[in-house]
Amino acid sequence: MTLQIKDLSKTYGKKKALERFSYTFDEGVYGILGPNGSGKSTLMNLITDNSKRETGQVLYNSRDILPLGEPYRATLGYMPQQQGLYEEFSGRKFLYYMANLKGLRRKEAKGRIEELLSIVGLTDDAHRKTGGYSGGMKQRLLLAQALLSDPKILILDEPTAGLDPKERIRIRSYIARIAKNKIVLLSTHIVQDIESIATQVILLKDGKLLVADSPSNLIASICGKAYERYCAAEEMTQLQERYQMGNVYLRQDGEVLRLVGDSKPEGFAPVTQPLGLEDVYLYYYPSLMV
Ligand code: ADP
Ligand code: MG
Repeated sequence: MTLQIKDLSKTYGKKKALERFSYTFDEGVYGILGPNGSGKSTLMNLITDNSKRETGQVLYNSRDILPLGEPYRATLGYMPQQQGLYEEFSGRKFLYYMANLKGLRRKEAKGRIEELLSIVGLTDDAHRKTGGYSGGMKQRLLLAQALLSDPKILILDEPTAGLDPKERIRIRSYIARIAKNKIVLLSTHIVQDIESIATQVILLKDGKLLVADSPSNLIASICGKAYERYCAAEEMTQLQERYQMGNVYLRQDGEVLRLVGDSKPEGFAPVTQPLGLEDVYLYYYPSLMV
């Protein structure tokens, strides 16, 4: 199974929301990482055909998705970034409603809905009105909704948005659990969301693909490029302004400023501990970490 994106572009007015994006997805979990406005949702809207493309192609198993139409849409599960719930519906009723919209027969839907409620840990709360759900519960219900038709391609636009760390871990582990034999695209601006589950990470900036690789290759590519120094609080602001970048760590013996770049800044020492994806982020989006 492949989903091939060729030269995909989208402009809003004068804004190039996505510019000549090309990439081939096969089975696996792909973390689409980038700051707000970098084009993540635009890419997902084009792949799900919720937005009209300008140039380029999206091919599912070598066939263009536009003439494919409904058979392609049936393979998709989509969790949009902004999505309302019917607050008066119970969680279970919401899933029946969505199943009906997707054309699932009630009989088939029943087993599937109970299975999904269990997968996302909502069985005990399924009878409650969604209006009373926490943010994490709502996101899990929306994830269940995206999985109703057992999609081969799962597109999740910031599924962890607005969640606390515990809920983020929870939803992440559900995604990891259901990802087998699927193409899963998961967008986020939070590195930790994809660190443990993405097989490939795609970095977007200003609508363009910066780099795409496995987390371990990305980390290896910045090996030896991270530098640190202890700083007094007054000095910290000065240094951050000077370099327009950096990540601040609090250690037992003081504050440490870490910079990641191609050359060693004066007075800094190379980091000897293993680096992580967060350092990769710092390398590609330096000014955003300040
Ligand atoms: P992300 O999901 O990474 O935050 P988006 O894909 O939503 O980024 O947006 C990319 C760029 O396109 C942004 O500059 C955004 O303002 C612009 N954009 C997205 N959707 C629209 C729209 N419907 N109308 C006008 N501009 C848009
Ligand atoms: Mg978005």
